[in-house]
Amino acid sequence: MNKKSRTCRWESWARQHISDGALMQRESIRSYQFQKIQETYFRVLRNSSFYKKMYKDSGCPSALNNWQNFGELPLITEEDIRKRGMEMVCVSQSQISRVVSLDTSGTTGLPKRLFFTEEDQELTLDFFHYGMKELADPKDRVMILLPGGQRGGLANLLERGVARIPAKSLVYGLVEETEDCVNEICRNQITVVVGIPVQVQALAACCRDRKIKVPVKRVLLSTDVLSDSVRHQIEEGLSCEVFNHYGMTELGYGGALECREHQGMHIRENDLYVEIVEPISGKSLPEGSLGEIAVTTLTRKGMPLIRYRTGDMGRMLPGRCPCGSILKRLDGIRRISDSLDWNK
Ligand SMILES: [Zn+2]
Repeated sequence: MNKKSRTCRWESWARQHISDGALMQRESIRSYQFQKIQETYFRVLRNSSFYKKMYKDSGCPSALNNWQNFGELPLITEEDIRKRGMEMVCVSQSQISRVVSLDTSGTTGLPKRLFFTEEDQELTLDFFHYGMKELADPKDRVMILLPGGQRGGLANLLERGVARIPAKSLVYGLVEETEDCVNEICRNQITVVVGIPVQVQALAACCRDRKIKVPVKRVLLSTDVLSDSVRHQIEEGLSCEVFNHYGMTELGYGGALECREHQGMHIRENDLYVEIVEPISGKSLPEGSLGEIAVTTLTRKGMPLIRYRTGDMGRMLPGRCPCGSILKRLDGIRRISDSLDWNK
């Protein structure tokens, strides 16, 4: 494994957005984020009937003057998106370039629909470009084992992000035949794989059992919780370095990504403000505490989310990463439904 320490690639990317490339301190990130939160708040009050009504009913101020004002805003939930997602949209329908419909589970049975503008999708593409630079350089060949190969879908955005490195990539899609996928990895001399933990774990088991040596050097895992045991099985089975990523459609797919130090996932702080909140009171918790992850989008145009409860538990690691980056890091992610003992 290459353990050479260097600041993760997207620290400089985040710096371009936050401080015009100038040296960034935590204070400059904080004031950038607050300004973006104020702008978002102003925009949703003007353009979204959902937010307008909710904030009026809750007695929220007409403008946010400080972080305390922000911390008192009500949290929104997945059910709000299911029932009233359309009313969260802040642009005209003609400006929406992509609508993602997710499963119909949940108490209402309604699908969860998310709306993105071209600009929103470009921000995701940009994050994928710089995020994937952490794993791949122009000599690498990337295989994407994710759904959404159509234009604007998850795999497609990732493919286009990788093309900007520039590196070669191949969208394989979800794995149905493990052996076929292993053969394709070998045939195409794939050095970087992006996939879902349980599927890549099956590839690793196949390689280990059949003593197949694949050319894979690095693996990026996303879309599901990654346990330590699955991580080790993949590292051993494929003899590779594993990078974890935290993302969901609500976050425009990309949320936080590990650097080569593998000590927590650096948050995409130029586009997202992440809080850890106490699940019952919704109060923001200090660094290091385990709680529910709540996210506010800072740059989203189509359907901004303010204090959105993700339904995932996690904590923020205190201090600076050994890689040198000051971007905050998320760790210990798990689904709330899997965290019955979170009070302990
Ligand atoms: Zn780091």
